[in-house]
Amino acid sequence: MASAAAPPRPPAKQRPAPLPPPRFTYHQIRKAIHLVCFLIFVALPFTDLMRVDIPNQRFYFLGSELWINEFGIIFFTMMFLLFAVVATSMLYGRMYCSYLCPQMIFSEWSLAVENWLVRKINKKLPKWPVQRKRIASRACFYMVLALASIFLAFVFTSYFVEPRDLLRRLLAFDMHTAGGITGAIVTLVAFLDFTLLRQRFCTAVCPYGYLQGMLGDDNTLLVHYRDDNNACIECKKCVRVCHMEIDIRESPFQIECIHCGECVDACQDVLRRLGRKTLIHYAWGAKGELLEAKAPWYLKFGLRDPKRVAIMLVIFFYACGLYAALTMRRQVLVQVSPVRTELYKVDSAGLIRNRFRVKIANRGKQRSQVKFEPTRLPDAQLLLDRNPIVVDPGQVIETEFDIAVKQFRGSELVNHFALLASTDTEKKTDSFDQTFLMPPEKK
Ligand code: SF4
Ligand code: SF4
Repeated sequence: MASAAAPPRPPAKQRPAPLPPPRFTYHQIRKAIHLVCFLIFVALPFTDLMRVDIPNQRFYFLGSELWINEFGIIFFTMMFLLFAVVATSMLYGRMYCSYLCPQMIFSEWSLAVENWLVRKINKKLPKWPVQRKRIASRACFYMVLALASIFLAFVFTSYFVEPRDLLRRLLAFDMHTAGGITGAIVTLVAFLDFTLLRQRFCTAVCPYGYLQGMLGDDNTLLVHYRDDNNACIECKKCVRVCHMEIDIRESPFQIECIHCGECVDACQDVLRRLGRKTLIHYAWGAKGELLEAKAPWYLKFGLRDPKRVAIMLVIFFYACGLYAALTMRRQVLVQVSPVRTELYKVDSAGLIRNRFRVKIANRGKQRSQVKFEPTRLPDAQLLLDRNPIVVDPGQVIETEFDIAVKQFRGSELVNHFALLASTDTEKKTDSFDQTFLMPPEKK
């Protein structure tokens, strides 16, 4: 009897071709930005682009040396930096935390160094017992971290103490002065932070993470998981790569999420091999809106509502105002005031004298000469030992001098005149309105 023919097999489902790898990953972008940030972090105090010199009471910003008595500019500069960080959080979520924050950069770096050392020792010493390899990798890690902590503490303290002065203290093992003690404490804190805390610092200590809930709104950029077609294969790679130890699939609003995009890369890497697109994206707002490639530039830039446009305009005008304030500030500051312990004095030659006090502060980098000259006071003599007065960079000179005049026709008890102060480096002349007191002319 002829056997029944086997039923035809259904045609095998063709596996979709893998998608090409992305041109760049968020991980690569972050690491490139981290490197740039690290170089900027190290360079800023050495170039005086941003530094607070506590012993000398100076604030350096973009090459300008601000004195502590210019508190207005210092305050508005700090406010500008704070405002820029807050505005960035509102538009782009926790981009500062994941892309720019030194704590995050060094935490990830210490983790990467630790893993690299473990791999190296396992590879180079395969015959060693596991326990010995673990001790060796820990010892190497602690040594590297101790050196890195000294370096970091040095750079960090340089933001508050002049770097060359600080280096001298470090080489002399100075543990007595405030700079030396600060350096030692920061070294210890950095070492403990990057061995024990790392990213836990962000959730356990840093208040900025908790502010995010208040700063974000319905149009803020977030990392979203969207699976409309049940395409998740439960590989959990997105969970394994997350340094904050969360599962982004549960919610885009988890307080721990720093929007680093590592889970986006992970999902993309897994699903593209199966010919599918990632289920995790950077997306806008609570709804997780994705933008098409041909979306207008202002939407891609995050300008999604009038509030954001207003914020960007405020930042722009704030930056212009700050720039104008920095460029308009005078390098050589002259202040003049009368000394009124005695209203006037008549000397043996019959000249009437009034005493004045001047204060000259050279906030520039060049030696400067300031020349004084009274005007609108007939035949006035300026009794100053040296005129012009030479002021070195960073120097403050306070001195007193007399102005002497003969009784002149039409003189009053109070005679208005101006004291001119000309500065050679700035080629500017300030005019200070003053009064000269003398006995009224006898009629
Ligand atoms: S969930 Fe994703 S974006 Fe958020 S911290 Fe973890 S890896 Fe980064
Ligand atoms: S990486 Fe993607 S596919 Fe894998 S579990 Fe996460 S969301 Fe699902």
